[in-house]
Amino acid sequence: MNILNNELLEHFSFLKLTQENPMNLSTVLKVKHNNCLISLLDTGVLQIEPAIASSTDIVISSGIHGNETAPIEICDQLVKDILTGTLAVKNRLLFIIGNPPAMNSGKRFLDENLNRLFCEKHLGKKHPEAERAGLLEKYVRDFYLASDTQTTEAQTSMSTRERCHFDLHTAIRTSKYEKFAIYPYQDGRGWNKRYLNFFKESDINTVLLAHQPAGTFSYFSSHEFQANAFTVELGQVKPFGENDMDSFSSLMVNLKSLINDQYIACEKFDSNGFNLFKVDDEVIRQSELDFSLNIDSSLSNFTEFPLGFQLTTDDNGGYKFASEGQAIVFPNAKVPPGQRVALIVSKTSI
Ligand SMILES: [Zn+2]
Repeated sequence: MNILNNELLEHFSFLKLTQENPMNLSTVLKVKHNNCLISLLDTGVLQIEPAIASSTDIVISSGIHGNETAPIEICDQLVKDILTGTLAVKNRLLFIIGNPPAMNSGKRFLDENLNRLFCEKHLGKKHPEAERAGLLEKYVRDFYLASDTQTTEAQTSMSTRERCHFDLHTAIRTSKYEKFAIYPYQDGRGWNKRYLNFFKESDINTVLLAHQPAGTFSYFSSHEFQANAFTVELGQVKPFGENDMDSFSSLMVNLKSLINDQYIACEKFDSNGFNLFKVDDEVIRQSELDFSLNIDSSLSNFTEFPLGFQLTTDDNGGYKFASEGQAIVFPNAKVPPGQRVALIVSKTSI
């Protein structure tokens, strides 16, 4: 307990504490600090609740892929600013470093891609990432539902509370649009333009609208709790210490504004200077031996291909581009048969 106290409240380092305790913590640290209740629920799971909370419950997660260090440094900096009193907290917060053992190994994952295991896709699997997905689901569930209990007690309408979740990532590849967000499938709900404005103002000028349910952390929060949840890609993967933190300054400013409840959301969205993409198709690998992905390994996300281009060779004939103006996102040949090789996307408007 002293080590936890020491790292968090003397050195203010959520990252160092998580690096030094990569496996599940057996104790929960709860302390009052700067008029907030700070609860370290598990390794890499830190809940911060102001004595009087405004109406937004915010989850900021990072390191779901262990080697994506910039998002972890963003969470660490925000926690530091809060613990040192530089940043006032007005909304309830849950900070997450998703996969500490993979982070310590400098790897995307150890057994299985954690961001395919949410929405109960971890059930029946017995490895640390499956267990972690189940635990992260529980912490997010408890976080969002606890505020329901509180609002009921305060006899406030549940509908007045807002939930949001920013699951921060960096990508394996470069991207034609350096930073972009993926807006999970909304199960029939509409796209919330206030958050498109949030991204635009945060120098994230591209949003990809997902077309179906997924096993991602952001879809979990969106689907189960109707949170305004997003997977946010912040550039290319780099080791700790090599990230240009200045390139996240607009996002930091806006996250801080949300945290201290100063952010003014604009309902009217101007799509000028903004790229909206929709998913047209998903390329799935079929065979183990007869498969190839026919692109340069350094290809950027959102690169367009001509109609008819043979993207993959596979035992079902492979994938050919079927329309003009289509581009690919997240191409990855190193997946087993049955898994996604790439998304095929095209520009859209809402
Ligand atoms: Zn990632």
